[in-house]
Amino acid sequence: MIAEQINNILSSLPAHVQLIAVSKTKPSALIQEAYQNGQKIFGENKAQEMSAKHSELPKDIQWHMIGHMQSNKVKYIAPFVSLIHSVDSLALLIEINKQALKNNRVISVLLQFHIADEETKFGLSLKEAQDLLNSKEYATLQNIQICGVMGMATFSDDSDQIRKEFRQLKSIFNELKNTFFSAQENFKEISMGMSGDYKIAIEEGSTLVRIGSSIFGGR
Ligand SMILES: *Cc1c(COP(=O)(O)O)cnc(C)c1O
Repeated sequence: MIAEQINNILSSLPAHVQLIAVSKTKPSALIQEAYQNGQKIFGENKAQEMSAKHSELPKDIQWHMIGHMQSNKVKYIAPFVSLIHSVDSLALLIEINKQALKNNRVISVLLQFHIADEETKFGLSLKEAQDLLNSKEYATLQNIQICGVMGMATFSDDSDQIRKEFRQLKSIFNELKNTFFSAQENFKEISMGMSGDYKIAIEEGSTLVRIGSSIFGGR
């Protein structure tokens, strides 16, 4: 069942798009099932839940943090996390850098942008991101690497609106790439698209889709 869902989704993804199987709230046994089918990248939205699953599951799984993070939780995932999608402040970035240094590693992150028409979704504006990237503090951070951007579209049936929001994220990506990251090959990821809207996201330039309920069922 899970294997079939994953294979269906994979068969519809272009080669440059990676699937993050969003396993939040789901038990390790289901993650194991997906893993046995070859899925190696999983997304979680709570640090302690990710850490518990990391400790009981195979060590070649790549764990992606996709949920809003409080700074005091970074320590739980810093030793192993492969990508944090949800960086929305300089303070959080400074804490990730500090914990990465403690673990003698460089942690890859994405900047999360607020593109939806909803108050409830977290994320930076373009101006806030530019201020962050121009700050003195940012220039000193040696143990983080910004690899791109992330955003969530409005939860809606209006595909024109969703498309417009994804297009906005792509244009933010282009702007930051040109201004701050033109020499950095690693700045290449656009994390957008979930179960309900990933096809539109891919048409608008997504490189990472985060899919939960279409793989594991409802939550
Ligand atoms: C839960 C979640 C997803 C996956 O959502 P589905 O609709 O279940 O595919 C993707 N991104 C983020 C940030 C999430 O919190």
